[in-house]
Order: sequence, then structure tokens, then C-alpha cells
Amino acid sequence: MSGNAIRKIVIVGGGTAGWMAAAAFSARLDKTVEIVLVESDEIGTVGVGEATIPHLAVFNAMVGINEDEFLAASQGTFKLGIEFVDWGLKGERYFHPFGPHGQDLRGTHFHQLYLSEACRRQLPDIREWSMSGAAAERGRFARPAPDARLPFSQLAYAFHFDAGLYARFLRAHSERAGVTRIEGKIVDVALGGASGQVEAVRLENGSSIEGDLFIDCSGFRGLLIEEKLATGYEDWSHWLPCDRAVAVPCKLAGPPEPFTRSTARAAGWQWRIPLQHRMGNGLVYSSAHLGREEAAELLLANLEGEPLAEPRHLSFTAGRRRLAWNGNVVSLGLASGFIEPLESTSIHLVQSGISKLLALFPDKRFNPAERDEYNRQMRDVFEDVRDFIILHYKATRRSDSPFWDYCRTMDVPDKLAARLELWRSKGRIFREGAELFGTPSWVAVLLGQGIVPDAPEPAAEALDSSFVADALDKMRLSYRAMAEQMPTHAEFIARACKAGSDPLFAS
Ligand SMILES: Cc1cc2nc3c(=O)[nH]c(=O)nc-3n(C[C@H](O)[C@H](O)[C@H](O)COP(=O)(O)OP(=O)(O)OC[C@H]3O[C@@H](n4cnc5c(N)ncnc54)[C@H](O)[C@@H]3O)c2cc1C
Repeated sequence: MSGNAIRKIVIVGGGTAGWMAAAAFSARLDKTVEIVLVESDEIGTVGVGEATIPHLAVFNAMVGINEDEFLAASQGTFKLGIEFVDWGLKGERYFHPFGPHGQDLRGTHFHQLYLSEACRRQLPDIREWSMSGAAAERGRFARPAPDARLPFSQLAYAFHFDAGLYARFLRAHSERAGVTRIEGKIVDVALGGASGQVEAVRLENGSSIEGDLFIDCSGFRGLLIEEKLATGYEDWSHWLPCDRAVAVPCKLAGPPEPFTRSTARAAGWQWRIPLQHRMGNGLVYSSAHLGREEAAELLLANLEGEPLAEPRHLSFTAGRRRLAWNGNVVSLGLASGFIEPLESTSIHLVQSGISKLLALFPDKRFNPAERDEYNRQMRDVFEDVRDFIILHYKATRRSDSPFWDYCRTMDVPDKLAARLELWRSKGRIFREGAELFGTPSWVAVLLGQGIVPDAPEPAAEALDSSFVADALDKMRLSYRAMAEQMPTHAEFIARACKAGSDPLFAS
């Protein structure tokens, strides 16, 4: 290790972000780097954040987490995508699956084949050409084998889990890997005179914890990045007007489905996340359009089972910290910004921040080039996610409430506006750089919300129509047949997510 190497990392906060950072740094950094995590049981965590996207499997592999153990410990279930109800118009529903739709043929994107065939005959929902969609519709699940024949290998999945149990699991994992946890409330942050960098955090009991690099995972308040360093916040609430949530768990009314459901309401939307032991529910809404008490009543009136706790209220402002990394402080999780949970992206943004920090890990000289590159990359990731979430609101055809009227008619960021124009013309979607959501995701939401292009692209129209019709029918039947062979989601969980599981299903 060089004399300039970072020797001590102090992680402030023990929510999902803090413990993910602890698990990753302890797995990936030199064992001589001391990692300390400070958290306050009295302050607690945000206590929500229970649905994920498939990339979490990469994080698990990076830190050495066994998928079955993690699911058993966190009462987790599998997630094949999100069912959106009442988003395009009331009474409509669609599915945003993980993984692709169909197969591209003769250099033509699958969705273009679908669009051209849809001009000739009435087609079923595009979901039927998705392996994950077909399995989810039937309540079935199996882990795809990477080398399996199509279509099974196209199945992609993520997880639902109990946020509190997940943090506890990560904590045990990190402590085994050598992370030191300190319980205590931070009451002050000490800056070094000339450098202006954070030198130490001071606890209520008078002790002081010094470090070289500080990871601010203190939640919405941003104890270091904002309260001490006044980094600033970019407010996106004019595009994402929901600023409140109320959450409550309830009893399961049946076996857990392998998907999240998002149901649009008059002033926001309601989530439904099935776990092994309970259902997670919450209403995300705009306080300019709905009051706190009405929100709680609406949520409680729309539960499928008996509530298991009192409703919990949360406030937030959509946006991001102007600099995710400022001085020797890197913010992760809610401290770095928040985009509402419609596509379950926040935990992924934590993961993305950790991976980028490992790729640009500094030494004590804190080269500004590394910090600037990190901030540029994080800005891009946040903005890409932001635009995809705005799409869901903008692409509505609902006009039954002032909230939806606002969303439908609002201006959107230029890049999104240009994308919508390209789509409307000939159904074209281009994924740029390292964007998180690819073509199938955009297509699922756009078609699902009834935004149909004027025409398919000319190359798709030029293909032999009987060849396209035949290929589409065969693909659809193969997805259906494969889904019908899978065990039910409940059967798979019962066999895979407990010790001594059937080797046929083991990860
Ligand atoms: C309504 C809602 C729904 C969500 N749903 C999803 C979802 O489905 N999927 C998803 O990916 N994400 C979701 N998220 C986001 C997700 O919950 C967070 O990204 C994730 O939990 C990380 O939170 P955190 O660790 O940054 O903050 P927190 O959980 O708030 O943790 C902050 C930590 O800092 C500590 N702390 C704060 N101040 C001090 C102090 N002075 N001294 C000592 N310790 C201190 C606290 O004790 C705590 O340990 C949702 C968020 C909200 C608001």
C-alpha cells in the first residue's frame, strides 16, 4: 500500500445503502483498509425499499452473497417485472417484464416485427412474447440456465424482500468480513482547517471517529454532504410531482405472485409487493392533490388483507444532490438523491454508486479528475432513470383528475421529448451509452400506455408478411409452453429458499 492510500473509511448510516457499501468495500478492498459504520438505532432507517431490478444479482455475486440464503433470511420472493394497472387509462393494464421481448429477425428489432404485424391483424399483448411476462402471468418461476435453449434463457428476474431483514442480513455478512459497527448518534461533523475536508464525526457520547474517506448514507437529510458541506440539491418535482408516501404491510391473501403491482390512483399510485410472510403496500402521492389523512384512508381501503401495522408517512423531494461526491465525502442512497420507487431503482442507484466508486477509488490526495468523472457518471445514471420514470406520467391518457391533467400536459426534459417524437413517428428507441433501461422497457411502457407509433420502420414493413406472422406465432407458443412447464412461484420458493433445498432448483 502506498503512503497515500486510504486507510480508514467511515460509513455514516446503517440503512440499505450503508450496509450495501460496507458489504462491498469489505469484499473488494485491501483487508488493511479499516471500515467503520456508525448508525443510530434511535433515529432508525427509512424502513421501505423492498423491490429491486435484476442487477442486484451482480451485487450479490460481487460481495459473495448466496441468493437462496439471502432470500430465506429476508423473507424474499422473486420478481419478474411490474404489472401496471390503470396507468394508460382506467381499466387498462400492462406488464413491464425483465428481459427481452421475442427475438430480432433479419436485423430487425422484435418490436418492429410486432408493430408491422399489428398493422395486419389484431395481436395479443406484447407481454406474451416475453419469457418473464409469460411466467409471471401464470404465477410460475424457475431460474434460467444461462446456456439453455431459447426462450428459457431469456427469463430475467429480481427480488422482493423485507428491507429491515435485508439490512440485518447485510450487517451480519459485513461484520463477518471485518466491518466494525458503532452505535451512536452523530451530533457534529469536524472539518479540517485548510483542506475543508471532513476529518471526523462526533457522537453524542463525546467520542470522535476520524477517517480518510466518509460515505454519507445518512438518508434524506444528508448529514455530511448537505448539512455540513451544503452541496445543494437539484429539485425535479416539477416533472415528478409525487412528494409523499404512506406505507403499511398487510397479511397475504394467497400465495405470493412473482411480480410487483403498481396501480394508478387519482393523485399518485399504489404499490403491492408480495413477500413470503406479508404483503408490502404503499401509496405514493402528490401532497398538492391529496391530503395525508385521505391518503392513508385510500391505502387502507385498498389492501387485500388485514393491516399488520399502523400506516407510516414519508416525505421527499424528487431530485439529486448536485455533487454525489464532494471533497472526501461520497453520498449514497437517499443522501445522494431520490427518484420515486415506481421502477424500484433506488437500491440499484446505491449499487451503481458503489461500483463506480470502486472503479474510481481515490487515495488521500483526492484527484479532482476522479471525483469529477464519478459525479458525471452519477449524474447521467440519475437523469436516465428520471426520464424513464417521467415517461410513465407523461404517457398517460388519463384526464379524470387534476393530477393526471398536470402530468399529461407537463413539459418534459428535452431528451425525453425527442425520444417520444422518434417513437411516435416510426417506433424507434435507441439506447444511449450505459443507460439502465433498454428498448424492451421503453416499448413495454409506451405500448402499455397506448402510445402507438404512426407506422413501423420501413425495413420491418418490407419483410415477407407470412414469414413474420409465422415467426411471431411460433415464438409466442414457445414462451407459453416453457412457462407452463415451470413450477409455481410458491413451490419454487418452498424448495429453493431454505437450507437443504432440492438440487434441481438450487442456485
Ligand atoms: C416510499 C419509498 C418507497 C421505496 N421503495 C423502494 C423500492 O421498492 N425499491 C428500491 O430500490 N428503493 C426504494 N426506496 C428507496 C430505498 O428505501 C432507499 O434507497 C434505501 O432504503 C436506502 O436508504 P438509505 O440507507 O439511504 O437511508 P435510511 O434507510 O434512511 O438510513 C439512514 C441511516 O442513517 C442513520 N443516521 C441518520 N442520521 C444519523 C445520525 N445523526 N447519527 C447516526 N446515524 C444516523 C440512520 O440511523 C440510518 O441507519 C423507497 C423509498 C421510499 C421513500
